[in-house]
Amino acid sequence: MKKGSYILLIELEEKETVKIGPGNRELEKGFYTYFGTAFGPGGLKRVERHSKQASGEKNVKHWHIDYLTTLEKSRMIKAVKFPEKDLECELASQAQNMIEAFGSTDCKCGSHLAYFHEREEGEALLEKMKAKYLNS
Ligand SMILES: [Zn+2]
Repeated sequence: MKKGSYILLIELEEKETVKIGPGNRELEKGFYTYFGTAFGPGGLKRVERHSKQASGEKNVKHWHIDYLTTLEKSRMIKAVKFPEKDLECELASQAQNMIEAFGSTDCKCGSHLAYFHEREEGEALLEKMKAKYLNS
């Protein structure tokens, strides 16, 4: 299985509060992009794991993003993979409206989760990243 980075586009249909570690995160109704990498065993298979979590097939909370994907009112719209590229922090650094301290415990970023009011905004970011980093 190939290793690499990925972006998930997730919709949250209702406002939720998720408790991660010592702090709660208020997650507004809307759309989120999560920037991740999968260089460990299994590689980009992790993306399929996220989608299983999102569909309710699986419910084990290991990473911060699991707290979002396992919410009843969340669903994964799409995933974009960037095989062989270690990009998660670079991708995250180009997004705005970040949810503070989410998914970035292993690096120096403020966060790896961005919020969008409108689906089009999230889709536009995915397209921009695809154009910039895929086929290059
Ligand atoms: Zn980072």
